[in-house]
Formats: sequence, structure tokens, C-alpha cells
Amino acid sequence: MEAETRQTFQSLSQKVGRFRVRDKIFLIPEMNRIGCHLLAGTFRGFGVNAVVMKTYAGLDLGKEFTSGKECFPCQVTTGDILLFMKKEKERLGERFDPENYIYFMPEADGPCRFGMYNKYQRIVLDSFPELEKLKIGALTSKNSYSLEGMFDKEQSRQFRKVAYLSVVVADVLDRLLWRIRPYERKPGEADQFIERAMAKMSDAFETLGPEGDFDGILEKLEEIVTEGKSIIDPSIPRKPLIGVVGEIYLRTHVHANQDIIRVLEKYGAEVVNASIAEWVNYTTYDRMREAKIGVRLSLKQLRINEMKKYLKKILGYGVDLSYQQLKQKKVYKRVKTLIELPEDHRLAHLEKILKEDNIYSFDVGTEACLSISGMIEYAREGYNGVVNVYPFTCMPSTITSSIVKPIMNRMKVPYLDAPYDGSYQPGREAAIRTFMYQAQQHFRRNGRKDLKAR
Ligand code: SF4
Repeated sequence: MEAETRQTFQSLSQKVGRFRVRDKIFLIPEMNRIGCHLLAGTFRGFGVNAVVMKTYAGLDLGKEFTSGKECFPCQVTTGDILLFMKKEKERLGERFDPENYIYFMPEADGPCRFGMYNKYQRIVLDSFPELEKLKIGALTSKNSYSLEGMFDKEQSRQFRKVAYLSVVVADVLDRLLWRIRPYERKPGEADQFIERAMAKMSDAFETLGPEGDFDGILEKLEEIVTEGKSIIDPSIPRKPLIGVVGEIYLRTHVHANQDIIRVLEKYGAEVVNASIAEWVNYTTYDRMREAKIGVRLSLKQLRINEMKKYLKKILGYGVDLSYQQLKQKKVYKRVKTLIELPEDHRLAHLEKILKEDNIYSFDVGTEACLSISGMIEYAREGYNGVVNVYPFTCMPSTITSSIVKPIMNRMKVPYLDAPYDGSYQPGREAAIRTFMYQAQQHFRRNGRKDLKAR
């Protein structure tokens, strides 16, 4: 028994971490479809054979190898990797070698369970003798997703810049889709267009990314945005604007959230979902906050060497954050000369919102920091309704719900909780429809502030 436990712990430290990815097939689980494909293109540009795995088809396997207490994204991704490996084994037969693959499952620290997915999945993989040697590549928010150990130092710096740009460009493409789809001339046109756009941009990141030709990438993006804009039928009047926040996986994974944005659109909405870059920026911002706290504490205790270490960290994360926010600003600036798309909220501003009435604190952490403040900001900006999308029992999202619901009540902005666990709830669509009825009323009474501002 003792030996078994020791083996399990060894497996967690030896087969979960940052491994060199060159010459391996790097398996990316699909979360936000466009973002994952652009990231895979970026990896390929840097010589890594990256593949986005088919998602959700393995949910039955995911449920079979979890107890039901895990978070829903853990069940979905467990199913994705098990089904993919099963199919690879069938396809390759004797030639199947698990050491040829690295399965990508990042993690976050903090008071919730995302840090445990890859540990749990390690235990599941180890229960299959043929998958014991499949390594899990894990980046962590503890060091703002550092790539050290995966690439050479210089290559890692360049990769990080291109990968960040791919995140921002994917956000822009998502927002473009949500801007044009409710107003498309022909049904289905926007979806077909965005699939083509995704493939083009993935190629652009693969070919232009490693050369650092960011201008070339953005020129391609501009061509796509111009084409996308032409899909809009200008005779269709603008619709109520709905803001979505919530747990990052569920709010961006269209199968897991039963395509909630499309359902909202069906009942008359134009939707804006919180971005992925917001989360990436948040992890950098949070590391910088921690380092600032470290400086204050070490100064109080007169620990000068500690203080120097923290100061160095502040400088490092500060440079990263400024770079990220500047790059993001630049991309939106170029795109906004062609079409009006909403930008992300600044993190310092979101923190200020929480401090105003002591509603919540960045010290507690998790996505609740972003969701609570993000919803309040949507409401202040004149959105006609807000939706919180999350896995059933998700801790940060439940906190968000309990804090935001009464606030939205006071602000008279329609609010909807949308928890998912893979089951189909008969009342779900009726709830969305009722919410959209309230949003329409809000729209009739108040209009849309963002349109008046133009
Ligand atoms: S954010 Fe929610 S769903 Fe994600 S790991 Fe934490 S508790 Fe689970």
C-alpha cells in the first residue's frame, strides 16, 4: 500500500510538468474553438506538432472514469483524452507509443479545483497500463504560465509573444462572430465565414508567427474583419445587448454550455462574452499584486534580501503586463477602425469596482474577481442583461451568483444563472426565454448606451 502511494506521488511529480515538446504530438483539449486552433497553429510554427483534440464525443468515458464530484470541465477533458488515445491505439495498433504524445492540461493555483485536474487525470491515465507513459504538459498560473523547460529560453520568449497575440486575435474573431451573426443576411453565413476565418488565421500564425511578423498577421485579420462586416444586413435594427461572464471553460465551450450564446441570439440578443485574454492578463496582474504584498511584508520584517526578490518580480510581471495590455490595445485599435467591437475592461479598474463598496476582494482570488466586477461594469455601461455561465457546483461562480444577483436587482438589470453539468434540463430554454423577455423590456425602456455614445 505504502509503495503504491509512493508510486502515485512519484507519477504526479515525474509525469506532470513542463516537458520539451519538440518531436512530440502535442495534444490540446478544445475549449474556446478558435483560440485553441490559433494556439495550435502557433505551436506548429515553432516546430511542435500540435493537434486540437475532438471534444465532447468522449463525455461518456469522462463520466465513467470520474466519480461525479469533480468539476464538469474535468469530466469533459478526461473524456477527450481517453477517447483520443483509444482511437489512436485502434488506428496505429502495434505502432502505438504513448511516449510520442504530450497531453496539455494547464492549471491554476488558488482556492478552487482547477489545480487538481491534471493530478486526477494522471491517476486515471496510470490506471491504464498502455497510457502510463503518456506525459501531461502543465503550465501554471503560479508563474503566469511560464514556458521555461518547454522551449529554449530565447524561443520561449518569442513563442510567448506570438501565443499571446493568438489569444487576442481569437477573442477578436469570437467578438466579430457575436457582432455579425444576429444580423446576418442569410442564416448560417456567419458560422461558415468564421470557420474559414479560423483556418486562415491559424495558417497565418503558423507561417508568420515565428518570424515575428505581427503586422502581417494583423493585415490578414483586417481582411477578415472587412469580409465579416459585409455579412451584416444594415436593415436589421440593433438588438438588446447581453453580457456573459462565468467560469472560463464553460462560458467558452459551446458543447458544454449547450451553445448558450446561440440560444440567447435565437431569442433576440446580441451577446458579448468575457474574453480569454482577460484571464491571461489577470494571472499576470495577480502575480504582480502578490509581489507587491511581499515587498510590504518583507519591509516590515526588515528582510532586505526577500524584499529585493519581490522587487525583481514586480519589475518582471510589470513589464509582461504592460506588454500584454499594450499589444491588446493596439490590436483592438486597428480592428475598431473597421468595425465597432467591445474592448476588455482594465484589471486595475475592475479591482477598483470591487473596492468601492467592499463587495469582494482580489485577495480572495479566482474568477469571481473578474465575474463580479465585470457584471457590474456591463450594467453601468448600459447592457440590457447579464448571464453567469458555469459548471454546476463551481465554487467561484456560486460566490459570484450570491453577490451579483442582489446588486443586479438593485440596478434593475435582468440577471440569469446558467449552470451546466451535461444533463439537459427541460426548463432551461424557458428560463433563457423569460430572461430575454426581461432584457427586451429593459432595452425598450433604456435603449443601448453604447449606441447613443456614437
Ligand atoms: S473554477 Fe469552478 S469549475 Fe473550475 S476548477 Fe474551480 S470550482 Fe471547478
